[in-house]
Amino acid sequence: MSEAATELFGANVFNDVVMRERLPKKVYEDLKRTIREGAELNRATAEVVANTMKDWAVERGATHYTHWFQPLTGVTAEKHDSFICAPGPEGKTIMEFSGKELIKGEPDASSFPSGGLRSTFEARGYTSWDCTSPAFLKEDASGVVLCIPTAFCSYTGEALDKKTPLLRSIQALNIQTMRLLRALGNTTSKRATPSVGAEQEYFLVDRQKFLQRKDLIYAGRTLFGAKPPKGQEMDDHYFGSIRERVGVYMKDVNQELWKLGVPAKTQHNEAAPAQHELAPIYGEANLATDQNQLMMETLKKVAARHGMACLLHEKPFDGINGSGKHNNWSLTTDDGINLLEPGKTPHENIQFLLILTSILKAVDEHADILRASASCVGNDYRLGRQEAPPAIISVFLGEQLEDVLSQLIDTGTATHSIKGGRLKTGVSTLPAFSKDATDRNRTSPFAFTGNKFEFRMVGSSDSISCANTVLNTMVAEAFCEVADELERSDDVPMTCHNLIKKYAAEHQRVVFNGNGYSEEWVQEAARRGLPNLPSMVDAEPALIRPEAIAMFERFGVFSKAELEARAEVKLEGYSKTVNIEAKTMIDMAGKQIIPAVIRYTSDLASSLRSVRDACPEADVSVQQGLLMKASRLLAEMQQALDLLIRVNGEAAQVEGVMESARAYHDRVVPAMEALRAPADELEMIVDKDLWPFPSYGDLIFEV
Ligand code: ADP
Ligand code: MG
Repeated sequence: MSEAATELFGANVFNDVVMRERLPKKVYEDLKRTIREGAELNRATAEVVANTMKDWAVERGATHYTHWFQPLTGVTAEKHDSFICAPGPEGKTIMEFSGKELIKGEPDASSFPSGGLRSTFEARGYTSWDCTSPAFLKEDASGVVLCIPTAFCSYTGEALDKKTPLLRSIQALNIQTMRLLRALGNTTSKRATPSVGAEQEYFLVDRQKFLQRKDLIYAGRTLFGAKPPKGQEMDDHYFGSIRERVGVYMKDVNQELWKLGVPAKTQHNEAAPAQHELAPIYGEANLATDQNQLMMETLKKVAARHGMACLLHEKPFDGINGSGKHNNWSLTTDDGINLLEPGKTPHENIQFLLILTSILKAVDEHADILRASASCVGNDYRLGRQEAPPAIISVFLGEQLEDVLSQLIDTGTATHSIKGGRLKTGVSTLPAFSKDATDRNRTSPFAFTGNKFEFRMVGSSDSISCANTVLNTMVAEAFCEVADELERSDDVPMTCHNLIKKYAAEHQRVVFNGNGYSEEWVQEAARRGLPNLPSMVDAEPALIRPEAIAMFERFGVFSKAELEARAEVKLEGYSKTVNIEAKTMIDMAGKQIIPAVIRYTSDLASSLRSVRDACPEADVSVQQGLLMKASRLLAEMQQALDLLIRVNGEAAQVEGVMESARAYHDRVVPAMEALRAPADELEMIVDKDLWPFPSYGDLIFEV
């Protein structure tokens, strides 16, 4: 980082350095203890913190504050309040911000989806400060706003947001990990926290062209569009040199993010033309989740400034790569041990293998829940297509680890590891591993990559909160079982060994090191009995099956009502999204494409007539052929349009959240595809000048 960058970093964050500098020592220590131990903040401390925070913000030009939260819409919400107080007798005002205002807010929340958790007569929702994520200043057209990361709950304490369950899952995982570590003889670590680094993929298109396409405006993805002559087949975009316009944009994005304390680190061109990636340095899961929201918001905001539009949709263009968010996940103790680090000694290896096989077990047992955690409407079009993992959950371990596990299963002991020296046979002796002993596999949805797992299924527009909440909880459950066993055992090394062997044997089916993009894998997975849930409509019910409810309730992450509410909100969201897309297609087909094709066919017909008039012997077969083809496709399009209008109308009448989503999925989506096919064919023959909106080529090659 250049000097300017180091100065910029965190400039707009009320971070630890600022707090230490500005808060009285006792208040600072109080607050830190609260953050560390998750205790309740006392009122007197809150008063001082609020006042200090306000002074700091006002010095930097802030006029307003907001509780910044993450409702179930998936985007962040804010309602600005100014620091200004009611004017005194002299008509003057002062800036004020109390501890009460810092700790708690009561936004009228009746317009946020709650899945029936909050009846409309009790419209209030409560936001409460999450002091583990620092407050920050947001600078935009409305001025400078102090943003206070908060959780959002109903009057009765049910979570209405994506932060609360994540915090609960982090807590549950901490408790179970500490039990496991203690049982293994660790007496020094005090806390274990999941670490997350989310790589964000996105597309950039020209804003003027974006504005000419209703599908991009309303749906965030193209609903029509013929393939351009060139796609991504030359592999010349991936890691290619960054074009100047994009480079200027990236620089601006980085600076905005650094100011917000987001450690934006890696940027490069992705595989598809106009596709890029930005990865931060990983951090604690809760903060990483907040920061990913800021990253998405910043990518969009800065794009507008540069005359571009940033598409975060999972599949903006058919036929080329979609965008995902690779969620890198590991587990770190407060004294700096990464529990997914294989380690060098047999003793470390045992702990590592036990943790690894417990995670295997968790992933296998809850594959459907993990799949559901990454479901969003856009991901339906991404998973299983061009270079995206399939909707089947499997784990990539790499040759070396898989070999160690099969030795354990076959012989009861693992005596050597590939590329490693031989080790003495013995119950508690396991081979040493070397990191990265095998090649990376990019096709796996859940890949072990040296010292972390990379969950590649998450959609690019989605919050990473749900995926991490599920991951944390299912691992907590697996660790809980291990801890139970170890605490009961009088021969811990033997119990460890037996558990590793048992888990490896029982859950081997979820391990797959081959090509996850291949058709053979789909069949092989079916033979192994692994769930394949292609659509979010298929996946969502996993969250409310009895085993899932039992697990989430047991670890205090979700109540049954909260899970049901979430499933309802998501399925409702599915129906609404497909409905908007269908209506957008109806609009574009009826008002733009069909009129353009009619103009084209009339032009052809007049040309045909005038050529014939002028020269009766002339060969007009080309005009005739085109006219026939265009007219046939036009008729097909009108028919498909009528059908889409009808089925979309019928789907709107279907009662019940699940039934409605099914209707949109089973009937409306195919009708949309049927309308698209002739339109895309027409785009290939109709005059470019007559085509009513920019083509794929215009969009992805002319940024
Ligand atoms: P690649 O694209 O090759 O997977 P990147 O550098 O683009 O690698 O992204 C890797 C991501 O994983 C980064 O966000 C990085 O900070 C994160 N990461 C690295 N180590 C860990 C870890 N132990 N736990 C969680 N995330 C990690
Ligand atoms: Mg990357």
